[in-house]
Amino acid sequence: MWFRRDLRLEDNPAWTAALSENREVTALFILDQSLLEAAGDLRLNLLLANLRALDDDLQHLGGRLRVEEGDPATILAAMGGPVYWNADYSPYAVGRDASVRKHVGRSEVFHGNLIHYPGHVLKDDGDPYRVFTPYYRRWLETDWPSPPTPAGSEARIADDPGKAIPAGGAPIIEAGQEGGKERLAVFTDLVDEYPANRNNPGLDATSHLSADLKFGTLSPRTVWDHIGTDTEGRRQYLRQLCWRDFYAQILYYFPHSARASLKPEYDGIEWVNDPDDIEAWKTGMTGYPLVDAAMRQLVTTGWMHNRTRMVTASFLVKHLLVDWRIGERFFMQHLIDGDPAQNIGNWQWVAGTGTDAAPYFRVFNPITQSRKFDPDGTYIRRFVPEVAGLDDRDIHAPWDAPPLALAGAGIELGDTYPAPIVDHPFARERVLAAYQQALG
Ligand SMILES: Cc1cc2nc3c(=O)[nH]c(=O)nc-3n(C[C@H](O)[C@H](O)[C@H](O)COP(=O)(O)OP(=O)(O)OC[C@H]3O[C@@H](n4cnc5c(N)ncnc54)[C@H](O)[C@@H]3O)c2cc1C
Repeated sequence: MWFRRDLRLEDNPAWTAALSENREVTALFILDQSLLEAAGDLRLNLLLANLRALDDDLQHLGGRLRVEEGDPATILAAMGGPVYWNADYSPYAVGRDASVRKHVGRSEVFHGNLIHYPGHVLKDDGDPYRVFTPYYRRWLETDWPSPPTPAGSEARIADDPGKAIPAGGAPIIEAGQEGGKERLAVFTDLVDEYPANRNNPGLDATSHLSADLKFGTLSPRTVWDHIGTDTEGRRQYLRQLCWRDFYAQILYYFPHSARASLKPEYDGIEWVNDPDDIEAWKTGMTGYPLVDAAMRQLVTTGWMHNRTRMVTASFLVKHLLVDWRIGERFFMQHLIDGDPAQNIGNWQWVAGTGTDAAPYFRVFNPITQSRKFDPDGTYIRRFVPEVAGLDDRDIHAPWDAPPLALAGAGIELGDTYPAPIVDHPFARERVLAAYQQALG
């Protein structure tokens, strides 16, 4: 059994089948340098901790997680025997798995990491959806793949640890299936307030399950079964899980969107890509407190609230006129839930080059967003202590605060905290002109 993005033993279709159909099963994970290099320390440490947790679970069953490093096709071919895995749908994974299939005698492929895998929810004419709402309607109507029946067999689990799991730093969240279950239990008490609170980044009102879904320490079906559909809050939550399936199938069917605009007519935008602007954005020093709070949250915790992912992405692309791929790469490096399909799909959505049905001239105003979604500045104060002394009215736009208020809060703009690096009305005009020019 080749584990990849399904680091759990429960509700794992490939694992269940491997145990049922064989007398001995090796639980294998292959460290892939090209994927490891794309990950920052926080995601890497979480991956290694998830592997240790999986190894612990296997030891309770008398086995070990075998860890190898190198080319999966070579390693798996050398091991012999049938190989079981759960499909991964990114262009890189699809290419890699096709190569493995050519080298191993028999491969058994299952679907365990999405609710509906790409191809399971299609339009009447067999084409994939590119717009979310009709996809969501069809997704809700589509029957579920049934859960795997737990294995009744007494298959032995091999106990060779191979090259063993490399040492790593402490993970930023509790790892493994047990960590995921705890997060799910905590969120179950919050889910009915989800519609009211989910957009406020100062409240801990979302599930924080994205890294579990990325590494597969929980299956989306387990999450669905646990949450259910009884209340509006629960239904709204499951709608978010549908976005995850939606973007997975977008990247699967439109692999060019990994590096180019999903809508090719947007490929001609002339980006400014100013290095100082990019650096200010990455380090949380733009002078816009909500943007800066979010970028600092990303770099220090490996996670960012969805509302501020939208605000910071929009700020980079539309206010600074920086190519969305630069931001996408930075997010991918730092997010513990960094996932190509989700990251690319959302970045393109914000840039207006992807699946968003709204016109590109919707430009998020970072000040209005700040006032609306972090009204009392809780989130800003948590990550931008330099402006914490301003009152709830002034904290969203320190440059508009009266001099006395700034002095009282110990702020000297341009010294203790940056003056805004770009002016909102100027930025809005500039981006509209750039997009208009590209579209001809
Ligand atoms: C620019 C940008 C980049 C993003 N990059 C990633 C990424 O690399 N990996 C990732 O998992 N999510 C990404 N997201 C989506 C979303 O922000 C996170 O999934 C969410 O914030 C994770 O927190 P949560 O688990 O508490 O979310 P909850 O609000 O509790 O949502 C539950 C689950 O639904 C799914 N979900 C929610 N919103 C979205 C969405 N917009 N798109 C796809 N799935 C969603 C996630 O799996 C999430 O765990 C990105 C969003 C933006 C705007």
